[in-house]
Amino acid sequence: ARFDELGLIPELLQRIAELEYLTPTQIQSQSIPHLLEGKDLLGGANTGSGKTAAFALPILQHLHVGDKPVAKGNMVRALVLVPTRELAKQVAASFKSYAQGLTPKLKVEAVFGGVSVNTQMLALRGGADVLVATPGRLLDLLSSNAIKLSQASHLVLDEADRMLSLGFAEELEKVLALLPKRKQTLLFSATFPEEVKELTDSLLNSPVELHL
Ligand code: AMP
Repeated sequence: ARFDELGLIPELLQRIAELEYLTPTQIQSQSIPHLLEGKDLLGGANTGSGKTAAFALPILQHLHVGDKPVAKGNMVRALVLVPTRELAKQVAASFKSYAQGLTPKLKVEAVFGGVSVNTQMLALRGGADVLVATPGRLLDLLSSNAIKLSQASHLVLDEADRMLSLGFAEELEKVLALLPKRKQTLLFSATFPEEVKELTDSLLNSPVELHL
């Protein structure tokens, strides 16, 4: 397939061309059309597969063309949960890069532990279109009402198996309870142990399944 056959808007195609992505990876060509339609996704994919663009591009497109042009209040529109600080930074950088050609500008923020919570609180004033977060720090910010998830339309769990093996199950459950029931959910995991299967069963609604 080619990028221009997937249903992406010209602003995103232009950015992909600038980044010199010549052809979509397998996960991109197989997931992007379904994600643009609003389907849930279960992805068995590793880093290096191009999965970040596979979920970031459709989410950015939905946020851009959606009825609410930009985030307001202290609302988050799309939440991406990741296991580590490094991944949070990387994924946020990817979202920012892919969003460069979009006007009005979308606000992408990353929050993670190990650094001062105050700076992150300030950054979240006015909400965020995309929030990339590790579960522990996100929960701290939620308990202090720095941010609200009740209006989020998109949820991504990236590296779900790692998130659970790092002991984030409890935090994850608390965060998930604060999200609206009606939303588009994407879950990526390299392995599918029982606890990941339980998570997918409770979270995903007739998902498209890709195991690459
Ligand atoms: P990921 O698997 O999401 O961590 O992406 C791995 C790397 O591949 C990143 O550095 C991306 O910038 C790059 N990448 C993603 N999609 C493509 C593509 N279609 N063509 C070339 N490079 C890509």
